[in-house]
Amino acid sequence: MNTQLLLPTKKNISLVGQALLTGNLVGIPTETVYGLAANALDGNAVNRIFAAKGRPADNPLIVHISDIDQIEKFSLVSEIPESAKKLMAAFWPGPLTIIMKKGCVPNEVTAGLDTVAVRFPSHVVTQRIITAAGCPLAAPSANTSGKPSPTTAAHVFHDMNGKIPYIIDGGACEVGVESTVVTTAGDVPVLLRPGGVTHEQLESVVGHVEIAHAVLERMNDGETAASPGMKYKHYAPSADVILLSGSSEQYISFVNEHISDNTAALCYDEDVDLIGGKTYSLGHKDNYEEQSANLFSVLRLIDEEGYNTIYARCPERTGTAMALYNRLIRAAGFEVMELA
Ligand code: AMP
Ligand code: MG
Repeated sequence: MNTQLLLPTKKNISLVGQALLTGNLVGIPTETVYGLAANALDGNAVNRIFAAKGRPADNPLIVHISDIDQIEKFSLVSEIPESAKKLMAAFWPGPLTIIMKKGCVPNEVTAGLDTVAVRFPSHVVTQRIITAAGCPLAAPSANTSGKPSPTTAAHVFHDMNGKIPYIIDGGACEVGVESTVVTTAGDVPVLLRPGGVTHEQLESVVGHVEIAHAVLERMNDGETAASPGMKYKHYAPSADVILLSGSSEQYISFVNEHISDNTAALCYDEDVDLIGGKTYSLGHKDNYEEQSANLFSVLRLIDEEGYNTIYARCPERTGTAMALYNRLIRAAGFEVMELA
């Protein structure tokens, strides 16, 4: 199959809308990361997503809509809890996925769970594509399973060339990490994955929000994942990621002592000149949004350039840094080395 990269013109959006409605896969831009989309109401089309990504069948997908009314129109959920209504009013459209009890959604989408994840993206091109398709779109990130998520159309082309007919190029993703996932299907809202909407922002709207154990820690053997995606080593480049916990000074001296031709170091703009080996800056030191937006493209670039070890400084576990921490510990296989 020839994979075509298309600009988001009216003609191309209507072309991919028709392709989606009739069961084909399309790579689509969103404000978080690029998605690999299929008609969410067509189980066979959804199965093709799992095949193209090599995604484990027990990892459910997020259903994307372009209007809140589509939840009822397509009977996606059995009920909308009060907490979900408040979160929708505060954060939609935007980088927040809300889990509710499932309605009429194929089992392929929910991986057999009795809940469904729904998101209303803010990217105008995503909204236009969903509207052109005329159906909700199931879409996980458009990477090969386990690899860093794609934040440009070129990343999607790299992973999906020959496997899907179309990719719409909507430019680089603004948020750059996947959506925040919160479940409202239980008594208390639970944060399952940190993203562009922070834990603090969620709590400011619905009061106490629990943080699922797997957000910040490796899961125990035999533990059931509240969000199946959280259990996998994830977001990982081919190079080994060594995550180092300590002060900025400790990190810089460690890297300077351990550089070789095969190592690359993630760092901040302010530190580039203080580190001797090959550096890749994620952005300004205190700007975690900027660092999140750059993380996946930097990891992909380091792989392309052939390094076999990546040093990274361990971010804080709170606030806007939580999404970054959550991605980096998965990229590092949950190992953090303490710098003495
Ligand atoms: P991705 O779009 O590739 O980021 O993957 C979707 C994420 O949403 C995965 O981590 C899933 O585990 C999570 N997810 C989707 N549906 C559900 C659900 N019904 N319950 C819990 N987590 C879900
Ligand atoms: Mg993913």
